Amino acid sequence: MPNSIKCLKFGYIHLDACPFQLKATLNTLSLGGDYKKMLKLYLDPGHGGSDSGAVGNGLKEKDLTLDIALRIRDLLNNYNDVEVRMSRSTDTDRSLTERTNDANSWGASYFLSVHINSFNTSASGYEDYIHDSLSDTSTSAQYQNVLHPEIVKVNGLTDRGKKKANFHVLRESNMPAILTENGFIDNASDAAKLKDPNWRQKVAQGHVNGLVKAFNLTAKAKAEMHRVIVDGVQVGAYQDDQNVLNAVEQYLPTATKIIIEKV
Ligand SMILES: [Zn+2]
Repeated sequence: MPNSIKCLKFGYIHLDACPFQLKATLNTLSLGGDYKKMLKLYLDPGHGGSDSGAVGNGLKEKDLTLDIALRIRDLLNNYNDVEVRMSRSTDTDRSLTERTNDANSWGASYFLSVHINSFNTSASGYEDYIHDSLSDTSTSAQYQNVLHPEIVKVNGLTDRGKKKANFHVLRESNMPAILTENGFIDNASDAAKLKDPNWRQKVAQGHVNGLVKAFNLTAKAKAEMHRVIVDGVQVGAYQDDQNVLNAVEQYLPTATKIIIEKV
């Protein structure tokens, strides 16, 4: 073990001076040799429970962020060497501190927070953030450089660019982090997209395409796929049977008709 290691947010420093838990860094350290990298993704759907987040056009941010994040989780099940932990997988309250503490103690290698924007009804489009203390060559910036174009490529939204801000989840997470703002809920044109489950699936796929590139994820061996169609709308297509069950469980309370179809 070298006595100086590359701390992701702070450059090369002495091991004893590493300002955050070593556990959190070990997964992303470049140790050379045949060390197998595993992406431990902390996936954070913004808001939840009594905190609706932004609201507009009959939509609540907390519902949309959860829906997109669950789709991201399900899509990632189709890849090797990735483990996902969610700050919430239902409509529950989680404070910002609980979220970052949870990610830090789990030892996440990347923090992805999913949000929907709101401003003055005329602003629209997509943007993402890393912490404003970070340089353009930081690890977070490098991942942002990979994820941003992959998401913009599929979401059909105006590209508002790669940004930096002093958001809690970006500041208090001990690993590289990004926060995505997927359209403006109070803008009629963006809201029309946000309402469409097929669009939300594309947005999730864009995030996953970025993660696949950034972390060199490889797809699991091709297996049988099943698509799940709820009331005429495809909610997902899955190789993993557990994903099929997850989807059915999620939609069962509200669906009139659920079809599971072999692809
Ligand atoms: Zn938000």
